[in-house]
Amino acid sequence: GVVVVGSINMDMVAHGMRLPAPGETLVGQQFVMAPGGKGANQAVAAARLGAQVAFVARVGTREHGPALLRALADEGIACEGVVRDGQALPGIAVIMVASEGGENAIVYVPGSNAELSPDDVAASKDALQTAAVVVAQLEVPVPAIAEAFALARATGATTVLNAAPALKVPEALLGLSDWLVLNETEAAQLSGLAGAREAAQALLQRGPRTVVVTLGAEGVLLADAGGRLEHLPAQAVQAVDTVGAGDTFVGGLATGLAEGRSAAEALRLGQAAAAIAVSRSGVQSAMPRRAELGAAFAP
Ligand code: ADP
Repeated sequence: GVVVVGSINMDMVAHGMRLPAPGETLVGQQFVMAPGGKGANQAVAAARLGAQVAFVARVGTREHGPALLRALADEGIACEGVVRDGQALPGIAVIMVASEGGENAIVYVPGSNAELSPDDVAASKDALQTAAVVVAQLEVPVPAIAEAFALARATGATTVLNAAPALKVPEALLGLSDWLVLNETEAAQLSGLAGAREAAQALLQRGPRTVVVTLGAEGVLLADAGGRLEHLPAQAVQAVDTVGAGDTFVGGLATGLAEGRSAAEALRLGQAAAAIAVSRSGVQSAMPRRAELGAAFAP
């Protein structure tokens, strides 16, 4: 199965005609509250695609915490590794969206995500050591991710680091990552190099066996320690909402790897899922179920 170690938030999205000026109160047209966070998004993406998924996280149970926990359970995600913190608020993102132009402004309050500790992760030792694939992103503290990857590596599980958002990554964590997955912006930031090819090849020297740079509608670039450098084009779709494309892609990649597929096949599974997700609005609500991918991607 797949173990995802990462963040979970409630996204609170208010749509107005435009963004308000400082000090201004604007009457909006629509409000939507939906679970998010890169960790939870990737766990949901993998679960919808049929993977057995366990989530390792820290959730404050004040305010929206119980709703977040219910949403995970509704997706069939195992939550034994989710530490519940009665004192804390869960992560919250307050998002304003301008319906004219689509611009947004976000205040993100990490809440309990910032408190995920190596001890919290070590409590999920059994799940981490029986997983086929362990996935993490950078919205929870690095020491917690390093603990998860060290435990996973001890039994030969494949570790996948999605280096998002664009932050510095300690070299020791890159050394514990079998796969490094990141978009062009993150690749440029982490490598200091502008071109995706140059960035991917430089990042390979820092520990991962395989580096994947996602290129939006252009697909992905795959570079591996065996000297392979390949561009895999994306499926052509009419994009409606690309928020969360990367999360759907990573969830699909992890699912494919857990099924024992080759790197190229697992990447295509991730791309097929992401192409469907961008053709619909929403993040988790846009993520496809396995049957929607068609016979070519039958489990
Ligand atoms: P992020 O959301 O992290 O910035 P990308 O925008 O690179 O990531 O998207 C991740 C993957 O999702 C891409 O590699 C691609 O496979 C798929 N994808 C993204 N945008 C589109 C699109 N407009 N059409 C088809 N596939 C897309």
